[in-house]
Amino acid sequence: AFDVLVVGGGPAGAAAAIYAARKGIRTGIAAERFGGQVLDTMAIENFISVPHTEGPRLVAQLEQHVKDYDVDVMNLQRAEKLIPAEREGGLHEVRLANGASLKARTVILSTGARWRQLGVPGEEEYRNKGVAYCPHCDGPLYKGKRVAVIGGGNSGVEAAIDLAGIVAHVTLIEFDSELRADAVLQRKLASLSNVKIITSAMTTEVLGDGTKVTGLSYKDRGKGELHQVELEGIFVQIGLVPNTEWLKDSVALSQRGEIEVDHRGATSQPGIFAAGDCTTVPYKQIVIAMGEGSKAALSAFDYMIRLPAE
Ligand code: FAD
Repeated sequence: AFDVLVVGGGPAGAAAAIYAARKGIRTGIAAERFGGQVLDTMAIENFISVPHTEGPRLVAQLEQHVKDYDVDVMNLQRAEKLIPAEREGGLHEVRLANGASLKARTVILSTGARWRQLGVPGEEEYRNKGVAYCPHCDGPLYKGKRVAVIGGGNSGVEAAIDLAGIVAHVTLIEFDSELRADAVLQRKLASLSNVKIITSAMTTEVLGDGTKVTGLSYKDRGKGELHQVELEGIFVQIGLVPNTEWLKDSVALSQRGEIEVDHRGATSQPGIFAAGDCTTVPYKQIVIAMGEGSKAALSAFDYMIRLPAE
């Protein structure tokens, strides 16, 4: 059995595995796809102390750093079920899709999240070529350009306010007949001179010239007419979905499906910790996920040394 079993191999899981292994305890990491969202990222310019890197490069470095330690890396393994220990200090069980079962004294859940996609033509093709999902990450790339934000909930309106301070012009597109963001955010948005709000609009296509985004088309849901907007960037803000469907029966989740953690990364189950984008910790970023993963590993170690000797 492992002392610490990490489930998920993004920045949070990699940091957790390194911190655990440095304590000289038996550490394993099972990941469906080592690297996580970072594998899908092009330029990374907010990974503090590294002014510029690229996703695949950072993943290779993460993998090398993990392999410098005695960590059992199980890549391409999807966890399907978590069965918490029956008594405190007992073994937790993680069942994998391949039928195997892993046992561990502590578990760190770091299965990340995925951005909900529009599912319209052009979105996949122009991902990272004008189609973006993270304003904190990619906002500065659009300095002085025209962008759209799709989604009028809190995250969409926050993104539009944020981007309006960087880019030339923001078009906010909302499917419903009104925005759903908090009133205070809507008031702030309405006060900005370089923002246009379009409601009752269904985005139908991301337009491009073969190499980058040049615009989008949307349908006016009232009149049924099609319109086009010329722009250089599209920020899709229609939800970040945590990869926690498989944990519904084992740990407490928030309404949005995020694993509830305290300030030490502990979940509702003793001996089970969580870190990164799959948790209730705000702001989903690489540096934050790494910090949270490290913290969860230290908490798991702290928990273990207090368990009665077997
Ligand atoms: P993830 O990176 O999502 O990793 C989750 C891991 O869990 C993966 O290994 C996955 O395969 C695995 N997993 C999921 N379900 C299971 C399961 N059931 N069983 C086993 N394994 C499972 N952040 C920045 O700070 N700067 C940026 O510039 C930046 N740009 C971004 C660009 C894009 C396009 C995207 C999508 C995100 C970007 N982010 C950026 C956000 C950043 O990538 C995330 O905040 C970060 O990767 C979260 O790390 P994580 O380890 O919590 O989760």
